[in-house]
Amino acid sequence: MMMMMMMMMTMIIIIIIIIIIIIIIIIIIIIIIIITWWILNRWLKSGDIKGETESTIVAVQDQANSTNYFKNKILKEETESKCRLCKQHKETIDHLTSRCPILAKNEYLMRHDKVCTHLRY
Ligand SMILES: [Zn+2]
Repeated sequence: MMMMMMMMMTMIIIIIIIIIIIIIIIIIIIIIIIITWWILNRWLKSGDIKGETESTIVAVQDQANSTNYFKNKILKEETESKCRLCKQHKETIDHLTSRCPILAKNEYLMRHDKVCTHLRY
């Protein structure tokens, strides 16, 4: 009987320790999410950039720039939704920033090199 009581107490202690560990992990994940959110949005609150630049960045994030695809599908204008440069794919923000075969030849490499010069110092 005493042995059974000891085993039960040990099991209860192990379960309590596991629950405490899970709670600690959840708290750490929540703290990481809050810190990441704060770091990612800090540039918006600090006011270090021009208002025009900020509005352009936000429009790009919201996919609301005046691309051919946006004009055709959202604004319902009589425009072709294809890319003005390659004329092969839909002219979306995603296409212009990373997938256009015409821009891939030089522009993406130049952008990459510019970013690298800032990261170097
Ligand atoms: Zn294109």
